[in-house]
Amino acid sequence: MSYAFEPLITTIPISDSQENFPVRRIYCVGRNYAEHAIEMGHCEREAPFFFTKPADALVINPARITYPSMTNELHYEVELVIAIANTGFDIELSNAWEHVFGYALGIDLTKRDLQTEYKKKSRPWDLAKGFDQSAPISSLIPFKNIGKLKEGTIELSVNNELRQEGNLNQMIWSIPEIIVEVSKHVELKPGDLIFSGTPSGVGEIKKGQTVRAALNAKNNTSLNATRLDLNLNFTVD
Ligand code: MN
Repeated sequence: MSYAFEPLITTIPISDSQENFPVRRIYCVGRNYAEHAIEMGHCEREAPFFFTKPADALVINPARITYPSMTNELHYEVELVIAIANTGFDIELSNAWEHVFGYALGIDLTKRDLQTEYKKKSRPWDLAKGFDQSAPISSLIPFKNIGKLKEGTIELSVNNELRQEGNLNQMIWSIPEIIVEVSKHVELKPGDLIFSGTPSGVGEIKKGQTVRAALNAKNNTSLNATRLDLNLNFTVD
């Protein structure tokens, strides 16, 4: 087959591997930590909801990103990212872990002013979330290295000031539950990513500021204890 132009494929490096993970779709969970739901003005546990970002909104281990157009209020949201290994629709909870390819650390950048305005007008807020460079992401750590991830610290600082600090065990919907819920809507396929929601403390990044994010977890697999250490460090120009 010949193409009219070179097709664009976004890929993420896989740690300790020569292989790369080709990205198909990006799903994101809205409000998955109780304290963040409260800070956004929502108090009750409700079924998770989802939105999407284009695959090429990812920026892999960026050193810098460009402050986006059409906003004066760029927000960070640090999140665990789940990479999907297998096809599945309406996945059962007992099988959900089999669909996990691995984990990454991501930031769901948001034009909060635009999102707020669109929400008020009952308009779709796609472009407040799915703009260019809206999803900085680390390399992927394979599931086989870490196993089932149930807890671990996730944090973000701006100019060395700690702004977000949470633990994966505070997620309202766990990793397998999120996979079950997304797969009720769409057939998941290898290459899909799920941004799993952010802990409390979301806020603004201004031009010239530096963001540091980290995800650290220890896990006991059947064989041995393993560590997950993922980092992202970049400046917004
Ligand atoms: Mn988010």
